[in-house]
Amino acid sequence: MRLGIISALQEEQEGLVEAMQAPTTLVHGMRTYTAGDIAGIAAVCVLSRIGKVAAATTATMLIEKLGVTHILFTGVAGAGDARIQVGDIVVAESLLQYDMNASPLFPRYEVPLTGLAYFQSDLHLSNIVADAAAGFLDADFENTIDAAERKDFRLQRPRVHRGLIASGDQFISSPGHINGLNQALSGLLAVEMEGAAVAQVCFELGVPFAVIRTISDNANEAAAHDFMRFVKTVASRYAFHIVMRFCRELAKA
Ligand code: SAH
Repeated sequence: MRLGIISALQEEQEGLVEAMQAPTTLVHGMRTYTAGDIAGIAAVCVLSRIGKVAAATTATMLIEKLGVTHILFTGVAGAGDARIQVGDIVVAESLLQYDMNASPLFPRYEVPLTGLAYFQSDLHLSNIVADAAAGFLDADFENTIDAAERKDFRLQRPRVHRGLIASGDQFISSPGHINGLNQALSGLLAVEMEGAAVAQVCFELGVPFAVIRTISDNANEAAAHDFMRFVKTVASRYAFHIVMRFCRELAKA
């Protein structure tokens, strides 16, 4: 197994490259791929940058040029439902591109000529990353996120949710927009800008993948402000500890 680890932003992968044994780097197509061992797993870390095309290109490159056999996307997302709170964690069961619309030629949201709107993540990888997230919240959360930050962001008892993530090339920051998506897409948990693109590439190339997102904002007027602070101070720590737990567990299997 060779695991590709993708994030859009540097903070979403903070500390991982430093935790790698024997790292080597390849710069290609405006991205830096760092290969090495993380907790006994052969891994390649890379920042995709933001958006579906950037993410799809990066996933393709990881598979075709770096030889990865499995992919984990780790990052932040806006809450897609009122039950989901900032600080909660969402693990994708399926992913959809909410801005895909070739109707009336194809049904709304369907990716033309694949017959699919919803792309399923790999159950085994998703189970392991969901367990890693739950383990982090139970055992590391209180020691890792300091009390002032927990209070500022009202992080009380963060939870892990599993279900639908929707991706599109927009930062969603209005209640009208997020409520409309919530109504149109039953079971929606989170919105972001990369996951469903990675899912399509992995589907087409037959590579198992998982997507995990920490909720950074409520996709409303406060989203941009909340997002910036949260990513720097909180999400970076979630990502590091969860990915380390994930790799340790994978290495046992
Ligand atoms: N202002 C930021 C832009 C970040 S875009 C900057 O200059 O760096 C937001 C990133 O976080 C994307 O990678 C996306 O996947 C995720 N994200 C978090 N909250 C989101 C939201 N409300 N809508 C869409 N994407 C969101």
